[in-house]
Amino acid sequence: MVDYFNGRVLLQPNEIPKEWVNILPDLPSPMTPLINPMDGKPAPPEMALAIFPKECVMQEISQEPTIPIPKDLREIFARSYRPSPLHRALGLEKSLGIEGDDIKIFYKNESYSPTGSHKPNTAITQAYYAKKEGLEELVTETGAGQWGSGLSYGCNLFGLKCTVYMVRISFIQKPGRKILMEAYNAKVHASPSKFTESGKKFLEKDPEHPGSLGIAISEALEHSLKSEKIKYSLGSVVNFVLLHQTIVGQEAKLQLAKVGITKPDIIIGCMGGGSNFSGLMIPFVKDKLHGKLPDLEIIGVEPRACPSVCKGQYRWDFGDTSMKGPIVKMYTLGHSFIPSPIHAGGLRYHGMAPIISILNNNNVISATMHHQTEVIKSGLLFTKAEGILPAPETAHAIKETVDQALKAKENNEKKVILFNFSGHGFFDLLAYKQYMSGELEDYELSSEEIQKALSSREMPNIDESQF
Ligand SMILES: *Cc1c(COP(=O)(O)O)cnc(C)c1O
Repeated sequence: MVDYFNGRVLLQPNEIPKEWVNILPDLPSPMTPLINPMDGKPAPPEMALAIFPKECVMQEISQEPTIPIPKDLREIFARSYRPSPLHRALGLEKSLGIEGDDIKIFYKNESYSPTGSHKPNTAITQAYYAKKEGLEELVTETGAGQWGSGLSYGCNLFGLKCTVYMVRISFIQKPGRKILMEAYNAKVHASPSKFTESGKKFLEKDPEHPGSLGIAISEALEHSLKSEKIKYSLGSVVNFVLLHQTIVGQEAKLQLAKVGITKPDIIIGCMGGGSNFSGLMIPFVKDKLHGKLPDLEIIGVEPRACPSVCKGQYRWDFGDTSMKGPIVKMYTLGHSFIPSPIHAGGLRYHGMAPIISILNNNNVISATMHHQTEVIKSGLLFTKAEGILPAPETAHAIKETVDQALKAKENNEKKVILFNFSGHGFFDLLAYKQYMSGELEDYELSSEEIQKALSSREMPNIDESQF
């Protein structure tokens, strides 16, 4: 059934995809292994099994082109918030002076979930597998609090304990997110904390340490090793998380088809660790790699304050600051890099998902970056035009969408642009307040700073000839 009268395309609950799309067998160059920091060799599966739920580890390395979504899980999605709507951004088009159907802007609305972002797509899935495996607790880190809220919600659905290490600066700046997590029964610690050895090390240096995602990851990993009934959960970067998000792109494809569009021209998403962008683009990338969408442009958007793909190097690096977790081949600004406190907390990660790194390194996708003032300005334009106030992360995708739409208008081109509305910004109103009162600052990362973090002696050297 098509409900397109008001520019909104809906699907029925029974149209929730029945499988996830796995991009691993189609990648233009093979997936790189995770490396054990102890010996510099590919990590044996036992290592991953000690950290993550078993089913997730299997999915991480699966070469199956698709992986079935369990029926119970689809029912839970159907009961809570999926399928999510696809909107034609008619209000935004109008405010950009775009008339008629030559340029069409669509967005997939992932702010529809109970916690306001795409994160529950993988959070519910991981909690589901953890429960099935007989685990008692999941532990994780969170930056802005979106992922922590998502996992707390997921764990609460299945009666699992949930512990969240929250980057201290966000813990202080975003008390609302902490309250939401606690409402879902989670335990929330400001990171660095006194509860782990990694945390204590940073607190000794600075009792008011603002924290970073890398430090919080180290703390959560350490916590997860306390008991076999506790496992670690990640909200981005790794293959299985990107896999769980492909439900988004598959729905979007079906929704576009219902309004007669089989070949979008441009797909856009913001990139922190890369999960929402991947979720939307992977089903389309698969078609592009199989020659079905040869002209499709796919653009990931980063903040200028943390441009991992745009300005980092594609090389081996630690995923976390304390160098406890595995070494990964990815675009990185260096694991010791602590980004400026921009409002898009979810985009403040030094690395990028290996899948995105491979796709970018092979020119299947591209990346761009924007300053936070121009980003929040576009976010505000969107709010006025469409009525939904975007998360600062999401506003990065909106800024690029606006630029692309105006370029097409200037060149009299026909374009269908699709972007991922990864989440709403109801917990991020301070960013908008600062913008409106002219207090919002931009941070540009200098080449010297990047060089410094990347030439650190702690950067790992991995012998690739061994695999
Ligand atoms: C977490 C988050 C992001 C960034 O994470 P990705 O894994 O890159 O998607 C973007 N937008 C929102 C709303 C988020 O919560």
